[in-house]
Order: sequence, then C-alpha cells, then structure tokens
Amino acid sequence: MRETIRKEGHVSQIPTPIDLRSDTVTRPDAEMRKAIARAEVGDDVFGEDPTMNRLLEQVSARLGKEAAIFVPSGTMGNQICVNVHTRPGDEALAHVQGHVLDLEGGAAAALAGVHVTGLPGANGVIDSEVIRHAIRPPNEHSPRTRLLCLENTHNVAGGTIWPLEALEKASAVAHQAGLVVHLDGARIWNASVATGVDPAQYAQHADTVMVCFSKGLGAPVGSAVAGSRDVVDKLRYVRKKYGGAMRQVGVLAAACLYALENNIDRLADDHKNAALLAGYLGEVDGVSIPHPVETNIIVVNLEGLGVTASLVVEELKKRGVLAVSLGENVVRFVTHKDVNESEVEKAGQETVEVLRQVRG
Ligand SMILES: *Cc1c(COP(=O)(O)O)cnc(C)c1O
Repeated sequence: MRETIRKEGHVSQIPTPIDLRSDTVTRPDAEMRKAIARAEVGDDVFGEDPTMNRLLEQVSARLGKEAAIFVPSGTMGNQICVNVHTRPGDEALAHVQGHVLDLEGGAAAALAGVHVTGLPGANGVIDSEVIRHAIRPPNEHSPRTRLLCLENTHNVAGGTIWPLEALEKASAVAHQAGLVVHLDGARIWNASVATGVDPAQYAQHADTVMVCFSKGLGAPVGSAVAGSRDVVDKLRYVRKKYGGAMRQVGVLAAACLYALENNIDRLADDHKNAALLAGYLGEVDGVSIPHPVETNIIVVNLEGLGVTASLVVEELKKRGVLAVSLGENVVRFVTHKDVNESEVEKAGQETVEVLRQVRG
C-alpha cells in the first residue's frame, strides 16, 4: 500500500508503514462504514438505541450471560468491574503483567481504592495453587481479598491462551474462597478461534467478562462487559459515574455488530501471519521468543543480542516497520486484519536485517 504526499511542490511516494504495534490500529473498512451509515439510533442512556440493544443481545448470547453493557474502552470495562466487585481497601489478584494491574493507569487504586497484587504465572496462566496461597484468610489486619482478574488471551505474555481446565480450576479456587472472578477477554475471540473453544465456555468460569471490538475485530471503538442482570445493573451505575454513558451509540454498535458477524473467523489469518513472523525472528542468534506464539502477538526478547528495544524499534521505523517496546529489552509485534501475508513477510525480512545489523 502506498500513499502520496505533497511536499514543496512535488509529489513523492512514501510507503505506508507496516504497522505491527497493535491490533488496535485496524481501521473500519468500506463495508463496516456502510453499516455505520445505515445504523438506526436512539438515546442509549434511556435504553432506546435499537442497534445497541441488538449488539448487547448478541454479546450476552455469545458469552452465555444474562446481560451486557457497552463501554468506550476495555479499560473502562475492566475498571467498572473492579469497582462493582469490591469495596475500598479490598485486594484484587491479577497476573503480575496483567493489563488491569500494569496498563490501566493505576485506576483500580485511584478510582476503586483497591490494591492489586500481582501473581506469577508462565505465559500469563496463574496456577490455582498460587491463587489459593495468595488469598488472605479473613482477619482484622489484612485487606479482604475479594476479586480475581484473569486475562485470556494474555497480552504482555505474548497472546497466550488460558487452557480451559486451568481457567476452571483457578476460578473454582477463587469462588470457593468467596472471591468474584473477572475475565479480561479483550482478545477472547482470538483464544476461541485458535482453540475451537466457544467464548461462552471460557466465560462460564467468570462472573463478568470484558470483550473488545476495537482490536483484531476492526471496529473503531468499543468494548462490552457481560454478566448477570443484577451485576450489569450495578455496572450501569458505575459506568455513569465514570463518564461512560453515551447517547446515540448505534453508530458504534453497528460497527461492533459488523465486526462480530464478519471479522471473527478471519482472526485465523492473523494467527498464521504471527507464526510466519515468529519464524523469521527465531532465525536470529541471540533473539528469543519467550512465549509460544499461539495467537496474533509476538513478544521478542533481545537480551541475548545486547541491544535495547528502543534502538530496534527506531531502526525498524526507518525501514517502514512499526513495533512497540514493552520494556528495556522486549519488543512486541501484533498481526491484524490490516496487514496481509506479504506485508508480514516483508516485515519479517526487514526485522531480521535490522537485528543482524544492530548486533554489529
Ligand atoms: C487493550 C486491552 C485492554 C483495554 O482496552 P482499551 O480499549 O485500550 O482500554 C484490556 N485488556 C487487555 C488484555 C488489552 O489488551
């Protein structure tokens, strides 16, 4: 793909970068825009947006829950759940690299007054015994451990999938101890396409589940939370408090419905492309891919190369490949619907050259 820019009177051609920073960079395509243009709308704060109501029915059905609520971002979806499931001073448990702990601006502490304890776990999967030991027995000194947050697929651990049995066990341990379980399923669609496990089978082990439409599914904006009718009523109240109650949201719901109906199965292509890219990167001595590439995310560790992630990201950018640094020596690549196989191949070749060049 090329775009033309005008500069000092002449037209020059620069290649559009191959953007592998995140699957959030996907843009609504022509068909999705048609669906947006056709959307019937109403005031959703009065519950009168017909397109939103259709989306929420579809989301609750797909996740096997009684009800659902729409939110502008996944962060808001997770955080209204943290708020509803806890009281100030409570403790939540999450993976030490979990989005809810590490990538939401400290919202659990700032907005819900909850402290989140990070638990270890290979590939983002926390062993149920680790959870059992982390749950504090009730006493007058300790915070009340109230909530367990799980993430499937796990973003920073490389798009890895919670095996269904592990999820079931973790959830059972938490529920037995009286905790509430929240599932951050921003990319639950990827997990489902990769394994053939229905999203509802994952969701049945959680009291609330948050899903995103704005990532690999290609919608411009939007996430949802599904749960019982009772919990969704409570979430509506907190969403209002957090500023997330919106009016003619049918224009967004139409994009999300389009995404659900058309863009789930094709995630398999993103997974194939991620494996292809990982194949290229794995060729370079000193580069390690610490997590299995199970879906659309590749986390690359450069410690063995002795170069920083920011240097590699800069060099890649010069060659028209965009990735993000996730730490001093860690670079992340994400495949998605707006990069095709030949672009991913090109990105792989460029990245191999950059890695060999910076190693010196
Ligand atoms: C992206 C993401 C979120 C939050 O989504 P935003 O819409 O960016 O706020 C939550 N959890 C995970 C695992 C994510 O990858």
